Amino acid sequence: MTFDNFIGNASNVAALRRMIVAQRLPQTLLFAGPAGVGKATLARLIAAAINCDRAVGDICGACSNCLRTLQADLSREEFRQQIAEREKLPSAKRSENPLVVSTHPDFLIFPPDGPLRMITIEQARLLRDAAQYRPSEGRRRIFLIDHVDRANNEAANSLLKTLEEPADSLTLILTAENPYFLLPTIRSRSIPFYFAPLSGTEMERFLDAHPSIPAADRGRLVGWAQGSPGRALALDIDEYAERRRAMLALLSSSLGVSSFGNLVAHTDALARNRHERLDLLTESLYGLLQDLLHLRHGSARPLMHEDIRGDLEGLARVASFDWIERAVKELADLDALQRRNIQKQIALEALTVGLRQAARTGTS
Ligand SMILES: [Zn+2]
Repeated sequence: MTFDNFIGNASNVAALRRMIVAQRLPQTLLFAGPAGVGKATLARLIAAAINCDRAVGDICGACSNCLRTLQADLSREEFRQQIAEREKLPSAKRSENPLVVSTHPDFLIFPPDGPLRMITIEQARLLRDAAQYRPSEGRRRIFLIDHVDRANNEAANSLLKTLEEPADSLTLILTAENPYFLLPTIRSRSIPFYFAPLSGTEMERFLDAHPSIPAADRGRLVGWAQGSPGRALALDIDEYAERRRAMLALLSSSLGVSSFGNLVAHTDALARNRHERLDLLTESLYGLLQDLLHLRHGSARPLMHEDIRGDLEGLARVASFDWIERAVKELADLDALQRRNIQKQIALEALTVGLRQAARTGTS
């Protein structure tokens, strides 16, 4: 992987490359934007370019510094497993041995840890200690704090101390989906780069570069991944389609287009699958409701679920704006409730009953 096959957010890539060549890269960078658009990938490329033995401000891809730095890809199976295994550890064990991923002594990644996927105070302390050392093999040390918006206040305050006086030879790259969740003092000490979702054409280019993804799935993936290559790679097509079928049945039953019994058949199957998560079901529903809104507005942009446009057009004919608005609001309430471990089948059926009532009476 080099800068040339990094797809999307080209102006950020160009600006950062110019800064590396001119040796004017700011010491603390904040990469902000949606999940899966390549923030951590670009951080890894920057780390390789800074320490490459052969190229100036670029990645030769063959020297030992490049090779080892580029290995630190958290989407690789070994790291995914390592992070998943840690979820099962008692929290005291995790605290004793804070999570840091490193395949090169001068490139350290601090990803969120534990079942709640948080950046912990122990990681922040470890980072602070590690920040005192000089580079051992490269020109600079690069620390990536991935999802810094998942640091609690205690961890964030500890990180702040490192950000206030970073060692001369240290570059810090922070990533965040929502930079406004950060302490203002952290935001103000970093130079922000905003990352956008990839366009449809960019997504097609990305999928073309991944021959392991069957050609038949690509059209649907472009819609479903919503401009996020990371999401496209992680998405299980069959699972996603099954979930969507159930949520489409829920909408159809909620609008009185199909019977309640039809929905129960689907939610029964979901309830039996213990791995199915309510947040993924509500996310699927949000996507379908968003498409219904676009259809009602007569918007020309492609739907997220273009492959079932016919079904959605049928529902959009009977769904009023008021009803869609109400459905989105009730879904948000359900999202808030799900932290309390509610039973997913009961929750979804109750949502449907409420929305059926609203559709019949035409109230909002
Ligand atoms: Zn190199």
